[in-house]
Amino acid sequence: MADLHHTLQTFHEAIQDCQKCALAAGRTQVVFGSGNPEADIMFVGEAPGYYEDKEGRPFVGAAGKLLDCLLQEIGIQRSEIFIANVLKCRPPQNRDPLPEEVEACKPYLWRQIALIKPRVICTLGNFATQLLLEKKVGITKVRGRSFQMQDYCVFPMLHPAAALYRETFQASVREDFQHLRAFLDQGLPPVTSKEQMQLL
Ligand code: URA
Repeated sequence: MADLHHTLQTFHEAIQDCQKCALAAGRTQVVFGSGNPEADIMFVGEAPGYYEDKEGRPFVGAAGKLLDCLLQEIGIQRSEIFIANVLKCRPPQNRDPLPEEVEACKPYLWRQIALIKPRVICTLGNFATQLLLEKKVGITKVRGRSFQMQDYCVFPMLHPAAALYRETFQASVREDFQHLRAFLDQGLPPVTSKEQMQLL
């Protein structure tokens, strides 16, 4: 545990001056991710926003407060999980990540996953879901159920920010968390295989 913590810390330090894409010019700091390095469950969001960029931790703004609430409702403490983003730096005006930014940044997420070895990766929103499922599929088509990949399950969910932008999404966002609870209560895998993925 101490070793893994140290390895993640060293990795964090190694990328804090990253210049692999243009986002480096506008950021306050690289937002590496935070939580339990030994977590069975990892959450992956999209990118840091204003408050994350200032504080250096993911999901500390309004979407983060809602995430904390939703996690609490299904009996998960933030200290049990690890949270990271597809992009480690804030895009200007919180615009969507560009393909070249995702390309430049994704090796960092792969390395985090390889070190933490989560059993379930909950992907919040389209960008994390498409990256982790390795497929250009809309979140509404895959949300609230699990997909078995080689080394872990991917569990796509609506991004909590969706509930902040549109009230009509509130129930759906909450429903995905209830489905996650039910999935976790079954014990882990098996679920949708890669072959079934082809049918989507
Ligand atoms: N904060 C994050 O860290 N990531 C998101 O995707 C949204 C808010």
